[in-house]
Amino acid sequence: MNDILTKKLLKEAYTYCGNLVLNIDSKREILDKICQKLDELIEPTDLNNDIDSKIDLINSRANKPCYAFRSDKIVRKTFMEIKGNICEYCGRTIKKEWNMCIDHIKASSKGGTNKFDNLALACRRCNSIKKDRTLEELWKSEKFINWVLEPKDIY
Ligand SMILES: [Zn+2]
Repeated sequence: MNDILTKKLLKEAYTYCGNLVLNIDSKREILDKICQKLDELIEPTDLNNDIDSKIDLINSRANKPCYAFRSDKIVRKTFMEIKGNICEYCGRTIKKEWNMCIDHIKASSKGGTNKFDNLALACRRCNSIKKDRTLEELWKSEKFINWVLEPKDIY
């Protein structure tokens, strides 16, 4: 079987399994195996092209005002697809979409843009602690240090 066909079938299997009512452990086990196989088949170049085009998509919408950009559904969806669901500041796994924020590393109030390079995936708490601080100021802030030291349950 050629790789493209295998890839297509695995993707279908992934979606199919995602919709099955199974106990969560067997589901996770099957999904892990499918993901592993897909990882083996996907060439790094495929992946890079895919990410590059997603970054381009985000950057093409970056001239919107900050609030409109952050709530743009396409921007949010694409951003999560690239970044996953781990807060880049505290390392927590963010489970609820509501708790996921697109943070401007250099705050927009200080001239930071909506371009991908200036964006980080942050949990709501880190986002609210950071506000318009620089990264250095964030890392020194006592509130942030305390939050990082709290147990890292899924948030
Ligand atoms: Zn966080």
